[in-house]
Amino acid sequence: MHIKKQRLLTPGPTPLYPPALHAMMASDLHHRTEDFRRVYQAAIADLKEVMGTSYDVVPLVASGSGAMEASVSNLFSRGDKVIVCSAGKFGERWVDITKGHGLSPVVIKKEYGDVVTPAEVEAALKDNPDARGVFVQASETSTGAAHDVESMGKIIAKTNAIFVVDAITGLGTMPLKIEEWGLDVVIGGSQKAFMIPPGLAFLSISPKAWAFEATSDLPHFYFNLKKEAKNAAAGESSWTPATSLILALAEALKYIKSIGMDKLVENAQLLARATRQAAAALGLEPFAATSPGSSVTAIKAPAGMDSGKIVKGFRERFGMIIANGQGSMKGQIFRIAHLGYFDFADLFAVVGSLELILAANGYPVQFGKGVSAVQEVYAEATGIRQPVNA
Ligand SMILES: *Cc1c(COP(=O)(O)O)cnc(C)c1O
Repeated sequence: MHIKKQRLLTPGPTPLYPPALHAMMASDLHHRTEDFRRVYQAAIADLKEVMGTSYDVVPLVASGSGAMEASVSNLFSRGDKVIVCSAGKFGERWVDITKGHGLSPVVIKKEYGDVVTPAEVEAALKDNPDARGVFVQASETSTGAAHDVESMGKIIAKTNAIFVVDAITGLGTMPLKIEEWGLDVVIGGSQKAFMIPPGLAFLSISPKAWAFEATSDLPHFYFNLKKEAKNAAAGESSWTPATSLILALAEALKYIKSIGMDKLVENAQLLARATRQAAAALGLEPFAATSPGSSVTAIKAPAGMDSGKIVKGFRERFGMIIANGQGSMKGQIFRIAHLGYFDFADLFAVVGSLELILAANGYPVQFGKGVSAVQEVYAEATGIRQPVNA
């Protein structure tokens, strides 16, 4: 029996930033005090800074899905026609939430691994000029694909519809120019690139989206964005906030600001590129080949091998928790995450372990081939040496 360190390597929850975890111990703090107000206001100001927007940013005590639901229940009205881009399990969640609230979604459905194109959104808006909203995932975590929200946003901005972007794994893994691209609502969650445990979600809300709030007729109580935004401006939350998570978020945001949001994005992009190259070097196929994102890389298990065997191998041999596929993708793919507090040393370990696990399952592997692909990307990115043509 050898030492196996437990390592959380899923695309949410993600590895925790230790100083943020330590900050949670100071949560014997009352939320209606100046001490808390200061932390809360600083955290919101820093969130706006890293998200790169002057729009209102409203935190909620919920996992990401709570903020998704709040965007529907606060901004839309019964019977509203909306366009939903559905290219994975989280796109399906938009369909369920909009239907569940009595909206009338026109669904642009794509195969898992594929993406909805801006041209398809444009055509859907032409066919449905009365559509009041467009919903999408910036990064569809279930497949590893990323949507072109820049082009979509610029198209939607010319219409009366608002663009609601689930950027829960998009934030910190891809550039998102909220105001320039016409992203009316951008949703984030604590347990993704923000390096802290689950339980907080937040949304940025454009003036165009606030105008929708004024006419919304859907019932809501706990998730009241207007009330929450008003209270947030005064350093208060409407209800008892998750004090410990706010302390953690404030600490993590200091770190993200110190390295720069663009560098956090670049970090994920580099790790994703290195992972794709490692997979190719090992003869493995990417799952989302058309438009691979940088939050997570989904890789197909070798023919005849259940991906659960790979996930189990990571857990049992190395104490590493990695993600299987979700829904019908379970058993077909495994997912290597890059968002938030992941570094190259993590990836050397993941790819080195993967090689051993594949070999243990009878797949022919030349040890080191995947790892050296990751090393090449690191060496090139850091100037250790110039690109080599392998
Ligand atoms: C994690 C995630 C969510 C939110 O899931 P919760 O479990 O509610 O936090 C939503 N969309 C995407 C794309 C995600 O990755």
